[in-house]
Amino acid sequence: MTGPTSDKFETLAVHAGAEPDAATGAVVPAIQMSTTFKQDGVGATRGGFEYGRSDNPTRRSLEAAIAALEGAEHGFAYASGLAATQNLLYLTQPGDRIVMSDDVYGGTWRLADKVWARYGIAVDAVDLTDLEAVRAAIGSGDGAARMVWIETPTNPLLKVVDIAAVAGMAREAGAITVVDNTFATPFLQQPLALGADVSLHSATKYLGGHSDVIGGLLATSRDDLAERLRFHQNAAGAVPSPFDCFLVMRGLRTLAVRMERATANARAIAFWLNGRPEVRQVSWPGLPGSPYRELVERQMRLPGAMVSFELNGELAVAERFVAATRLFTLAESLGAVESLIELPAAMTHVSVADSPLAVPAGLVRLSVGIEAVEDLIADLEQAFVVAAVPAAAV
Ligand SMILES: *Cc1c(COP(=O)(O)O)cnc(C)c1O
Repeated sequence: MTGPTSDKFETLAVHAGAEPDAATGAVVPAIQMSTTFKQDGVGATRGGFEYGRSDNPTRRSLEAAIAALEGAEHGFAYASGLAATQNLLYLTQPGDRIVMSDDVYGGTWRLADKVWARYGIAVDAVDLTDLEAVRAAIGSGDGAARMVWIETPTNPLLKVVDIAAVAGMAREAGAITVVDNTFATPFLQQPLALGADVSLHSATKYLGGHSDVIGGLLATSRDDLAERLRFHQNAAGAVPSPFDCFLVMRGLRTLAVRMERATANARAIAFWLNGRPEVRQVSWPGLPGSPYRELVERQMRLPGAMVSFELNGELAVAERFVAATRLFTLAESLGAVESLIELPAAMTHVSVADSPLAVPAGLVRLSVGIEAVEDLIADLEQAFVVAAVPAAAV
């Protein structure tokens, strides 16, 4: 069930979690829809399968694949990224405190601030790029944080957090470090190798990669956490359908080539935007002027395919601009083969409008896809004209 082993990501991405089916020779693991499994005697299962919420062969293949790609011992699949997030919450107790990126995914913050708070879990939003602030926020002894929640690169400002440094401080204080690895993917960044305890994905994004499946994944090498996560996965039940597991696995097969191409496109677009008079500031952590460039080189294979920038002019200008692109589709979400454009303040980040996580009104976010980059740049260029974006700050 695990497929050939290799230390090369590209090989693992194609083969992990899949080897030709012993009975049929099928090269692709079957989508096993059965909700229940015959027992040859009471408790005598074939391969440990009893009931589809508890375990399923297609899901097990996906879980083996994400474990292999994250360099982890254990993988877990869920119905969505937030279902995976919720499952991690079950590791905490009332009275616990979580230190979280102040630039975290809006839905994660909403879950923490509006739901977890009701169950006695406190959450501190901290700028995790400020290591002194991180140390102070984690604290020590009885009052120390129970969990540290890193997201890097962050959304939508693409700040980069030093995973090894933050995970080191968390470990000293006895806290669990979680890295939301959705933006980077395990191809670009390996959180467990940098000292994190758990890596989390919204598989809805790059891992699925085709905007056609909602899913979540966790990976860890800590047996103690894995045992509790497995228990809660079954007990709380937010598991993915076998068909969704198949779609995520199909996405994983091409992850390495998609990320390389999308990142190359993002690089070209970031450099091009950086020279445009209509643009005030470009955030892409691989730009020469980026404060995160050295850290990216240390921690990531490539800087990734998300780009954000601030336009000159008012919110209305930015609204006209994102409506004027033809190849970049105006839509929420990210990480797929097609390029998307959005206005975080009015779309993905509405839920954090009045919180410490609020974002600049004129900020535009691109999820750069794998189209021909000349076409993508030409599309942005015509949108500058159609939207009449001023060529100088006003
Ligand atoms: C989308 C997203 C999530 C939530 O995942 P869903 O699959 O939508 O539940 C969490 N973190 C990040 C960084 C995301 O982009």
